[in-house]
Amino acid sequence: MSTRPRPTTLLAFAAALLLAGCTAVNPYYDATRPHHRPDGFANNYGPAGGKPFGELLAWYVERTRNGDPKPPSTHVNGYDFPVVKPDLAMLQANRERITATWIGHSTLLLQIAGLNILTDPQFSARAFPVQWAGPKRRAPLPMTIAQLPRIDLVLISHNHYDHLDHDSVTALQAQAGGPPLFLAPLGVDLWLKDQGVTRVERFDWWDRRTLLGVEVHFVPAQHWSARGLFDRNASLWGGWVVRAPGFDFYFAGDTGYSRDFADIGARFGGFDLAAIPVGAYLPRWFMKEQHVDPAEAVRIHRDVKARRSIGIHWGTFELTDEPLDAPIGELPEALRAQGVPAEAFVLFRHGETRVYERRP
Ligand code: ZN
Ligand code: ZN
Repeated sequence: MSTRPRPTTLLAFAAALLLAGCTAVNPYYDATRPHHRPDGFANNYGPAGGKPFGELLAWYVERTRNGDPKPPSTHVNGYDFPVVKPDLAMLQANRERITATWIGHSTLLLQIAGLNILTDPQFSARAFPVQWAGPKRRAPLPMTIAQLPRIDLVLISHNHYDHLDHDSVTALQAQAGGPPLFLAPLGVDLWLKDQGVTRVERFDWWDRRTLLGVEVHFVPAQHWSARGLFDRNASLWGGWVVRAPGFDFYFAGDTGYSRDFADIGARFGGFDLAAIPVGAYLPRWFMKEQHVDPAEAVRIHRDVKARRSIGIHWGTFELTDEPLDAPIGELPEALRAQGVPAEAFVLFRHGETRVYERRP
């Protein structure tokens, strides 16, 4: 039995989404800031995100004709798709060691400076407004929200459904030991409050704050936003920087390639660990402005001067035309082509944890 959503369902929803004009009012509008608009936000260097209906239709015709995406192979470059069981007892108890665990897609559990930090929590079976249609989770979830250590900080990059999930947010809000602190781009704070989230800090690009003993910055990305019919680019999108003693972390969010990354590299002077998207990139003519491919992800790794990077935004939800496991073959090729050591930019297995050393 096929569990894929009917293309017509997706097409109808996406068409409505993309046809809809901006009718929002930006309550945070600041005319002195170039990426602000009276009705929302814009990119620094690339065009405003979201594609015209004609291009969306052309993409659907193309992918249907080609039969894309092709199914993933189960063994590529020695990678087994099955999930690794995380060491839950270690993650629950750990306050000392710096760790990163890939839960899937753009959801990472980071343990830095004694804090449990979650990026773009998505624990649902589908990344869509409803759970009976839309992109289905293809790799099993390695751990549930109830199995997480108590989360201190949640970093939200933007409001697309594969990054901001209603059920995951409300479950975190209700976690044992009290709700985490949610860090949100401008406008996403309002949505979170509507869902009953009580602890929210909103950030504009380049805002910096010290929270829970770490320095947090919100930084630009080239992307767009929308959850409904009338809110295209009404809320902001971007990436997060967490600077802790001896360890600087960067989460790129969802992005196309732009000069924003050279700006971030110049401002921060490098990172100990970066999480950079490597999936959801075909066809290039449609995706290029909003999603990087593995070669561009490696350019971001170099631009921001990351010592090590993790590839995210792949292998979990089938969103675009490349096979779900394509980054397993393409990332090492891109690293070779750009002279970056293979161990500097890696893909985790779902559920895999790695431990990192603090800088002296
Ligand atoms: Zn997105
Ligand atoms: Zn995404």
